Amino acid sequence: MNRESLTFSNRRQFMSELANRLRTEGESACGPLTVVLARVQRLREINAELGFDIGDLVIAQAGSRIQSCLRASDIIASVGNNEFALILSNNTPAQLESAVARYIARCREPLIIEGKRLRMRIACGIAYANEHGNTASELMCAADTALVEARNRTCGYAVFKAAPSSVATPATMEFELEEGISRGDIQVCYQPKIELATGSVAGAECLARWTSPTAGPVRPDIFIEIAERTGLIIPLTISTLNSALRQAREWPSVNGKLVPAVNLSAQVLSDGQAVDLLIETADRWEVEPGSLTLEVTESAMMADPDQSLKALRRLHERGIVLSVDDFGTGYSSLAYLKKIPLNELKIDKSFVLDMVEDRDDSKIVKAVIDLAHNFNLKVVAEGVETEMVMHMLTAMGSDFAQGFLFGKPMTSADLIQWLQRPHWTNDNAARGSKAANG
Ligand code: C2E
Ligand code: CA
Ligand code: CA
Repeated sequence: MNRESLTFSNRRQFMSELANRLRTEGESACGPLTVVLARVQRLREINAELGFDIGDLVIAQAGSRIQSCLRASDIIASVGNNEFALILSNNTPAQLESAVARYIARCREPLIIEGKRLRMRIACGIAYANEHGNTASELMCAADTALVEARNRTCGYAVFKAAPSSVATPATMEFELEEGISRGDIQVCYQPKIELATGSVAGAECLARWTSPTAGPVRPDIFIEIAERTGLIIPLTISTLNSALRQAREWPSVNGKLVPAVNLSAQVLSDGQAVDLLIETADRWEVEPGSLTLEVTESAMMADPDQSLKALRRLHERGIVLSVDDFGTGYSSLAYLKKIPLNELKIDKSFVLDMVEDRDDSKIVKAVIDLAHNFNLKVVAEGVETEMVMHMLTAMGSDFAQGFLFGKPMTSADLIQWLQRPHWTNDNAARGSKAANG
């Protein structure tokens, strides 16, 4: 470990050091000061599965592993329960990105804690002084925004990029989102789900869309993250569910009723009152058993496994179909899944997208299909973009498929039109792509 690099133990000290350095150094010959925020990923699952003590050790390991890669002039501080902030200087952008890639790789090395082998993953958001902010707090905000983006990237890091024409900071965006939800500005787009054996449309996933009055359309993963962080996710989910149930009444029936599928976040599952609200909403729209699906990711269930189990059982008793979303990316155990009254597994698109070229991916897809069928569960493969993938999934026995091949998420009005056309061809996929999309 490079013991020369300076370490601070809290955010306040770090912010005052950053402010100092910005005053004295500003921009050096070799590029500006850079702030990197590093966050340990999937800590919730680690805590849920292995306990908080191990979670704490993982965080401590992340800190010392990153520190072992630092130079004497670099600074690291622990600034949140699972977050580290760094000040780096004298780097060109290329040197900086390779340094950050090194921290990520160092953290990915196998970790053995109390006899358990783990792999931790960190995500890093990067912001440059001057370019992305002039004050310590502007830079931290920019690095935090980049961190949200970084989580979705395979490389694990992202440099801050202002949203086009954005004047909204995360804090104003939060305020705008709150107003938007209460004004009923959340739109819902629908993506069809096809039954592979018959080619008929079985349902549609309901995906929230929001346009910020100052920053324009905001990507769902970004505003959902804000909503989750601020508790707005509960009213947002209820708003999405209300729109979905209202609009689904207008959909024509094709070989039976189309079932809308709404996404649920962890907070909704761990809040008994939120579950009451979901059930009341279903009652108000007189949802019949089997006519509404709720999609829950493995990680959402594992955030609070006991509460989730209670919530999922109540929803099941109400006749709601339960689907495990992004299956294969989380850490749920089969022992846990067995206890839940599930109906469906949704294979994550990261395995489906390249399954024609990638033998490992296709093996995983096949294994999940067989596993699901052994447990009497239906399978949906998401992220189907090509006919080749569709044919492979059909041969493997997948029950349903969803993806750009059939249609991108579209407004309810476009879905109604789309339902009048045949759904299989690439031609349709091209037309679908013109439909409203976030
Ligand atoms: P998700 O639940 O995994 O939704 C599927 C995402 O995959 C959607 O992105 C969809 O547009 C995209 N997708 C579908 N087919 C394909 C394909 O063939 N290829 C590729 N590359 N992508 C495809 P979207 O709409 O951007 O939503 C992103 C995430 O935002 C969703 O992921 C979900 O986690 C979250 N989300 C959206 N609406 C809601 C909501 O109302 N509540 C909650 N809790 N989360 C939501
Ligand atoms: Ca989903
Ligand atoms: Ca998914």
